[in-house]
Amino acid sequence: MNNRSSSQRSRRPGASTADSGQKNRRPGASKNRPQSGGRGGARGGKSRPVKAIDIKLLTKDAVPLQAETYVPTQSFADMPFSERLQETLRKKGYTHPTAIQSQTIEALLDGRDMMGIAQTGTGKTAAFLLPLIERMLNGEKLQTLVVVPTRELALQVNEEFKSLTKGLGLFSSCYIGGTNINRDLQNLRRQSHLVVGTPGRLLDLANRNALRLANFPVLILDEFDRMLDMGFAPDVNRITRLMESRTQTLLFSATVDKTQKKLIDGLLNNPVEVRVSEGEATGDHIQQDIVRVGASENKFDVLLAMLAKADFDKVLLFAETKRTVDRMTKMLKKSGLQAEQIHGNKSQNARQTALTKFKDGKIQVLVATDVAARGIDVSDVTHVINYQIPQTYDSYVHRIGRTGRAGKTGKAFTFVD
Ligand code: AMP
Repeated sequence: MNNRSSSQRSRRPGASTADSGQKNRRPGASKNRPQSGGRGGARGGKSRPVKAIDIKLLTKDAVPLQAETYVPTQSFADMPFSERLQETLRKKGYTHPTAIQSQTIEALLDGRDMMGIAQTGTGKTAAFLLPLIERMLNGEKLQTLVVVPTRELALQVNEEFKSLTKGLGLFSSCYIGGTNINRDLQNLRRQSHLVVGTPGRLLDLANRNALRLANFPVLILDEFDRMLDMGFAPDVNRITRLMESRTQTLLFSATVDKTQKKLIDGLLNNPVEVRVSEGEATGDHIQQDIVRVGASENKFDVLLAMLAKADFDKVLLFAETKRTVDRMTKMLKKSGLQAEQIHGNKSQNARQTALTKFKDGKIQVLVATDVAARGIDVSDVTHVINYQIPQTYDSYVHRIGRTGRAGKTGKAFTFVD
């Protein structure tokens, strides 16, 4: 959906220039753009040294996704799920398992540990939830703790559990930072089959003896690489130590490097290892290009020219700091665009409202910091724009992975100074 008015469109110089396919060409270039503000200065945020990422890596033609070639060999109807769960799957419209689901469900029904190299968008949530739900429906006592790095991901996992267990007598609850802890303490009086949350809040509740982690046999660590990036390793260690009756651990990560290996080996016991959707994990299915800002040009105006193009319908715009996100959102709004922001200083309500508006196509641009955007599952983001080069290539791949989801190709642009 596109909410820009035609007057906004026509105000943007260079709005009609086609954008994809060519390298190193700035989309929406214009000779007659007003030169207000300096390049990358007050209007553009700080520029960052380029050396962290090789710019060559940021320019790529999209390779069609491997997902197109994944042909499921069985349907959910063929899988050993009870009729009650089959009914729910039918209602949800899930007919065939995704690649990760078809490769893991059986092992997880057997209670194996698992190491899944997979990103959000692959169906990994249902991959771990479905076997657990089935086992709980069969009477196993499997209180499950799901630890995730961000509040948004926690809410998504909670929602997915609720929708997969509607009417089945299984309950979940969600505990995340930035919300009223007294309500959490109250909620914890009722037992949930599945508890999902972010590390800090979960530990806080455990320290108050409200959340008894010793009672949870199943641990799921989702977006593990992100948790480590965000400095949650000590919290995760504390949580695992408190889970004295842990018998099954599932760990999902988009990437695994050598430094994480030792920690992971200590957590998992003879895990099934599954790696899926390498295409999505590397961003190869995303059309990637850089945007160079000429010495005489204004960076923000270059951005506006891009956003005025017809196909920039649902744009996730990354800026480095909360302050820059705030400032850019205000500037975009002032320029007549529908934009909202999402970052760590915003209340949970404000973040959720912005995200919902973005999902529903009510705004054109969602401005975000890296951390706030992790795990966001919006299926039809048309473009990811990095207003500055991200600090690491890993972070770059995560960001651009917010577009080109669910088998679609996407486009990503990165400003280089
Ligand atoms: P996830 O990777 O868990 O974030 O899932 C990505 C999206 O795929 C979510 O919106 C799920 O509801 C959806 N999904 C998961 N499994 C299936 C399936 N087997 N068929 C259709 N959609 C699915």
